[in-house]
Amino acid sequence: MPRVRIAPSPTGPLHIGTARTALFNWLYARQQEGAFILRIEDTDTQRSFLEYEQQIIEGLQWLGIPPDEGPGIDGEEYGEYGPYRQSERMKQGVYRPYIRQLLDSGWAYYDDTSKQELDRQRKEAEEAGEPFVYRGDPYKADIDYEQAVIRFRAPHDKQIMWRDYVRGEVTFDSHLLGDFVIAKDIDTPLYNLAVVIDDALMDITHIIRGEDHLSNTPKQMLINEVLGFAKKKYAHIPLILGQDKSKLSKRHGAVTVSQYREQGYLPEAMINFLALLGWREPDDREVYSPEELVKVFRLKRIQKSGAVFDSAKLDNLNVRYLKALSDEERYKKGNQFLKQNGWNVDRLSEKQLRVLIDVECQRIHTFGEIGTETQRFWELTDYPSERLQWKNTPVETISAHLDLLAGMLEERSEETYDPELLETDLKAVLEEREIPRGEALWPLRVALSGREASPSPFEIATILGKEETLRRISLAQNKLKEV
Ligand code: GLU
Repeated sequence: MPRVRIAPSPTGPLHIGTARTALFNWLYARQQEGAFILRIEDTDTQRSFLEYEQQIIEGLQWLGIPPDEGPGIDGEEYGEYGPYRQSERMKQGVYRPYIRQLLDSGWAYYDDTSKQELDRQRKEAEEAGEPFVYRGDPYKADIDYEQAVIRFRAPHDKQIMWRDYVRGEVTFDSHLLGDFVIAKDIDTPLYNLAVVIDDALMDITHIIRGEDHLSNTPKQMLINEVLGFAKKKYAHIPLILGQDKSKLSKRHGAVTVSQYREQGYLPEAMINFLALLGWREPDDREVYSPEELVKVFRLKRIQKSGAVFDSAKLDNLNVRYLKALSDEERYKKGNQFLKQNGWNVDRLSEKQLRVLIDVECQRIHTFGEIGTETQRFWELTDYPSERLQWKNTPVETISAHLDLLAGMLEERSEETYDPELLETDLKAVLEEREIPRGEALWPLRVALSGREASPSPFEIATILGKEETLRRISLAQNKLKEV
């Protein structure tokens, strides 16, 4: 049973890149009936915050890809391989015996070479036009342990090779690694060592992570081998790039999951979009539900080249998912976002709100846009009286039509204000009296919205309610007197 993990540092909100890595791990785990683990790499105490840890967990939950093991939202851990926070593992002394083992077996040694000396050697290599490959002296006497770090003795002549799901066969020459630092002291491993020990103790089988870790993999494989742990399989997924092909960053716009959530994107759309960031099927299909993704996702089909973040594509997907929502979900979300956008929704009846939300959902890309642009239809601003005129229809005729419609609207009870009922009834009367529709419905729509382009007068009247509808028509009548 495969066990996979993500190991983010809680030094910021859940980034889109981490969410995509999480998704690929989650998809693989679900498909193979394995487990998806969240481990928190929080040993950088200056930059790690519990609040970010919470945001990571919340973000994964919102996306619908919660980990099977890890710290929970309440701070409690769940799973049998804990602790899942590196800081706690460190406190428990998890790493000490392994560092001891490496030192005792001669694979690691204390090195107190000063920074100045290291810099000098680096410069020398640079001047000679050679790569800087550091080798310390494992047998040095009189070590200043206060100063020293622990280094791994990388073999000089080993070809490190693995078959990556994404990159195919990758080889590294161990000589080029030099003796790299693996711990600050016997209790404080650095990333490359801690990750190997944690992965091994948590029985991780597959490591699916960003390709920015490619150069760490040979180091981790060496340590893994020396410590006698089981081999892992690797998939290094491509970087996410902005439209300009540079690494995705803040200057490209929203880069965290919570930003997209706040903007009213739907989790299903995000999942669909994130899955296509570096993965696709041969037929280039674009729309997938999470369940479908679990079925068809293959690590082998992850692409090598960078994945360009196309926000127009995300918007299109979001529109699709928005249209596919059930009436109830649409109503609930619409309501929530209207409020968020400053709408006084309490002023409206449930029916009015439903019509408003349906009308809005025809044009928005995300719920974050709901009611913002169309505010102007619902809040009447002054408009030129000429706008009420339909083609060359005389003002008196327009005024008479508005009178007729106002009469009908006045007679009706508020309960019968409904887009479909209004449309049927008003159009029937116009037909009966042989009034061309435009002549009456254009001025009505302008009277209600003040605009040339707006939703239908039936929808606007329903949303405004009887009183406001009649008030706006009478305002229009007054304006017509000025023409
Ligand atoms: N903390 C590392 C990161 O978030 C973990 C990398 C790994 O998956 O090994 O980049």
